[in-house]
Amino acid sequence: MKSLITGIHHITAIAGNPQRNVDFYTGILGLRMVKKTINFDAPDVYHFYFGDEFGTPGTVFTTFPFDGARKGTKGTGELTYTAFSIPTSSFGYWMDRLEKYNIPTSTPLTRFGEKLVRFEDHDGMGIELIANDKDKRKGWTYGNIPSEFAIKGFYGATLNLKAKDLTEKLLTQFMDYKFLAEEDGRYRFGTKGEPGDIIDIVLDKAGRQGVQSAGTVHHIAFRTDNESSQLEIQRILIENGYHVTEVKDRNYFKSIYFREPGGVLFEIATDEPGFAIDEDEAHLGELLKLPNWAEQHRDKIESKLAKVQLNISTYA
Ligand code: ZN
Repeated sequence: MKSLITGIHHITAIAGNPQRNVDFYTGILGLRMVKKTINFDAPDVYHFYFGDEFGTPGTVFTTFPFDGARKGTKGTGELTYTAFSIPTSSFGYWMDRLEKYNIPTSTPLTRFGEKLVRFEDHDGMGIELIANDKDKRKGWTYGNIPSEFAIKGFYGATLNLKAKDLTEKLLTQFMDYKFLAEEDGRYRFGTKGEPGDIIDIVLDKAGRQGVQSAGTVHHIAFRTDNESSQLEIQRILIENGYHVTEVKDRNYFKSIYFREPGGVLFEIATDEPGFAIDEDEAHLGELLKLPNWAEQHRDKIESKLAKVQLNISTYA
């Protein structure tokens, strides 16, 4: 049977100042801002989407920025690190680039035989760049970052959990994930085991519960092909006792949500229709896009949102 879930769709974090957030992900990391819209559940807050050229599922990191938001804390029940995939040959380039923009980093680490560096964005969001040569995706560059060094999309994500058995059962029995390997209390799962589908569970039995606010992840979305595969997963999850929401229309994909047993909010989002549904691919992310129901309130919504701009040229 074909897999209903094929990897990670997007990861969404809470952020602080919107302009600093845009500068970090587009300027320093070189992701493309593929959509500038609002949080559909809280229209006075932006929802930014950063990804590759088209916002391909598996590359899209999204944020809800609240200026002045208190910082959250990393802990159990949270997705603590979002890992992006970079080519092995770019590792030195990225270490130099992060230093150039005064981003404190870990020393180079090795995990499952691959080199990585760990750091945080301006709000304390945990990020890793994992160097590997198995990722065939193209990535995105504005030209400031040489294209051969560009981030290709997600590598995977780390869930920090007090216990793993129930989450492992969810992933492996109902979400098409397979256990791949274990190293130092880190349990790796994948659908195919490729960059873009990796979920690591780090067991932290004595850990403190994380506090969700700026600099922490709000949820992770897994990808499924279309609305019919989504309904199939929804049915399977509900039959097995998970409390899954109704299908919500997020304009660029359809979504269902449920909390996994370890406390992390999971979403399952469709690959269709994608980000070109309401603006040309050449101009993704340039204008504030609103869902139809919010369009009549555009003036009021825009008046409450701080202006943000792309400052790509200042991040050479
Ligand atoms: Zn989402």
